[in-house]
Amino acid sequence: QINMGVLALQGAFLEHINMLTGIPEVTSVITVRTAEELNSVDALIIPGGESTAMALIAERCNMLEPLRAFVRAKPTWGTCAGMIMLADEATGAKKGGQQLLGGLDICVNRNQFGTQKESFETMLHLPEILGEELFSAVFIRAPVISQIKSDKVKVVGRLERQIGETKAETIVAVRQEHLFATAFHPELTRDNRLHQFFVSMALTYKQ
Ligand code: GLN
Repeated sequence: QINMGVLALQGAFLEHINMLTGIPEVTSVITVRTAEELNSVDALIIPGGESTAMALIAERCNMLEPLRAFVRAKPTWGTCAGMIMLADEATGAKKGGQQLLGGLDICVNRNQFGTQKESFETMLHLPEILGEELFSAVFIRAPVISQIKSDKVKVVGRLERQIGETKAETIVAVRQEHLFATAFHPELTRDNRLHQFFVSMALTYKQ
């Protein structure tokens, strides 16, 4: 049984909570805004939103260090802006950079596909997670993983897409031990298979 937390400083956290309710192994789901709340959960989801805003709010709430300690030890899934937060390095950041939590040995590039207008939904293969089945993935000002920095990182999702003049294959989902990251927003669909996957992943690391 898992006590799940969703970081609720900024972004699409309510949608994640809706996706988690109804999964039998999830005993409770809470919004996390304080270190006490963070310490009461077994696993955490960091939602999509705006990573610079999220980092600034985390800093003002003195949540950066508690979050850094949490993601080093406990199962955490970052979606979109949440994936940026979990990366060791981000490009395309504002001048002066932005605070990250780190944990994933990857570099991400923010807003790789362009502005809000260039947002899209596409069917994705995630063979290690869903086998042959496809997943409808929503990309909104999404980042991509531009560099994998250690062999602890497993690529679990790739996307081939025309970006400007060139068709390129980009990495859009990874796992590294107890950490999971997706560049897209599974919480904006009605499909909770990736939430189920994260719950079973969290259970493995709890035992
Ligand atoms: N572009 C946003 C950022 O850099 C992420 C967008 C999203 O989470 N949908 O944080």
